Amino acid sequence: MAKQNIKDPGAHHSSSGALIRRFLPYLAKHKAVLFLDLFCAALTTLCDIFLPKIMSTITNSAMGVGITLTTGIVLKLAGIYFVLRIIDGAAQYFMSGIGHIMGVHIETDMRRDAFDHLLLLDHTYYNNTKVGTIMGRITNDLFDVTEFAHHCPEEFFIAFIKILASFIILCQASIPLTLAVFACVPLMGVVSVYLNGRLRARFRQQRIQIGELNATIEDSLLGQGVVKAFAAEEQERAKFEQGNKDFEHIKTLGYYAMAAFNTSTRLFDGLMYLVVILAGGLSLVNGKITAGDLVAYMLYVTTLIATIRRIVEFAEQFQRGMTGIERFAEIMDTPVPIHDAPDARPLQPGPGAIRFDDVSFEYPDDHNKVLHHVSLDIKAGERLALVGPSGGGKTTLCNLIPRFYDVTSGHIYIDGQDIQQVTLKSLREDIGIVQQDVYLFSGSVADNIAYGKPDATREEIIEAARLAGAERFIMALKDGFDTYVGERGVKLSGGQKQRIAIARVFLKNPPILILDEATSALDNESEILVGQSLEKLAHGRTTLTIAHRLTTIKNYDRILVLGSEGIVESGTHEELLAKQGVYYRLWNQLPGEDTL
Ligand code: ADP
Ligand code: MG
Repeated sequence: MAKQNIKDPGAHHSSSGALIRRFLPYLAKHKAVLFLDLFCAALTTLCDIFLPKIMSTITNSAMGVGITLTTGIVLKLAGIYFVLRIIDGAAQYFMSGIGHIMGVHIETDMRRDAFDHLLLLDHTYYNNTKVGTIMGRITNDLFDVTEFAHHCPEEFFIAFIKILASFIILCQASIPLTLAVFACVPLMGVVSVYLNGRLRARFRQQRIQIGELNATIEDSLLGQGVVKAFAAEEQERAKFEQGNKDFEHIKTLGYYAMAAFNTSTRLFDGLMYLVVILAGGLSLVNGKITAGDLVAYMLYVTTLIATIRRIVEFAEQFQRGMTGIERFAEIMDTPVPIHDAPDARPLQPGPGAIRFDDVSFEYPDDHNKVLHHVSLDIKAGERLALVGPSGGGKTTLCNLIPRFYDVTSGHIYIDGQDIQQVTLKSLREDIGIVQQDVYLFSGSVADNIAYGKPDATREEIIEAARLAGAERFIMALKDGFDTYVGERGVKLSGGQKQRIAIARVFLKNPPILILDEATSALDNESEILVGQSLEKLAHGRTTLTIAHRLTTIKNYDRILVLGSEGIVESGTHEELLAKQGVYYRLWNQLPGEDTL
């Protein structure tokens, strides 16, 4: 069974008008091409309008009505038609070539804007959204926009002039017959609008479901190590199968909706021809129209039907494009809670003193209160260690400094400047962070080290690696500093990756340093090596270290013990031991209070 309500945090349903308005600025950038495109569209309709005229002239003269047909006249008519088709060919070429290229430009622009917006979104968004879902939104979902961008204005325009032209020409032959034929149009309009609405809803569900399926697949593939270790293939298969079946179900519903839609258009065609046979036949019998008129009539109605059929077919493309724009709008409408204040100035570089002034914090999504009225002064160059139970809020406290999250109340100052009043870029340039997990981008070792300073010289990169204690192992790699690493490159050990991360920060050279369990995942030997590199890195910088092993922070200037009720104890190693409190118990590995 398919899930009845597919959850999608970003999903919201916008009216078609709102979506078109969102799209228009992109289209407006290509006014000239669009205008030419519409002009060509008008040219192509000439052919369709002239063919019935030619055929009716020939039929009438064969019946002895109107002009007498001669070889010369036939050649002349053929000549006109030939020229029209040449013009038509040129116009078609322009429309499908340049028109589509315009669509691609628009798709590219929209994808760029979506990606730019994604770069602005913060941890809260990324913690709650699966990468697979987001990727689908900015790749596949935007594919259909190309077709949409190009065809939408053109098709509507062609339809408009063709229908208008047929109406005028048909009225000249027989007003009652024309009214009878056109009476069918509103009926079709109502039915199609209804069926289209259903189709659109199905497409929207399909997009959401494929996103879910992608996320499930991504989860399984990324977790293959764990899957294999637990021999949990069956479990993964079941999860995947559920998603796959749900997708099948939704696609099936989509095809039912499409079948209803297509059938309705066919039935409608039949109805129009029926009207022509009946009304046209009777008018001919009564001598109200000529045989040539009826031939022309039939051809015009055929054109009209083809036009309406095209709109109906296009409606499907239209729906897909609108769904793409809707998914795009979902990204663009995701608020950016953490951004520069309107009057933000760059942070004035200083020695790196940090002050927490009555800071409280709760996570925005689940209102989990983590920090309560924390006040804290960290002197420039001070080495501060944060210890305490897992979940005590150490990482949270550190994440507030680079504004990965904004404080709920209170203020944080760096060198006397409120971090909410300075630009995010300058703030984050002031802070170096080494975490437990290191992400290496696809590229060379050198590129990865230079990540925070892309214009670094080769000498600077090598120097940073040397300071981080990474030079030796890098030189031993296949291509030294040019060795390709990352997802598809050479695999490095945890300790090696960590030293590349440290080299990155050396190169960046910030006054403030945050070390969040940087060595926790390492074996003893690597921990010692990385520990030495970190010592060097911390030299002369204000350093906040979250340590899981207390021996590593024994000599720190100050140690803060963080518990669920905030800062529980604070002092040097000796002072805290003398207190015989929480730290004392941690140090001696004695069973602690509930909070520890
Ligand atoms: P520590 O680093 O001391 O182990 P954290 O700062 O990671 O602790 O976590 C403190 C508390 O905040 C925990 O209760 C944790 O569950 C919660 N928490 C951490 N990250 C988030 C998040 N992104 N959203 C909601 N709650 C979170
Ligand atoms: Mg932590």
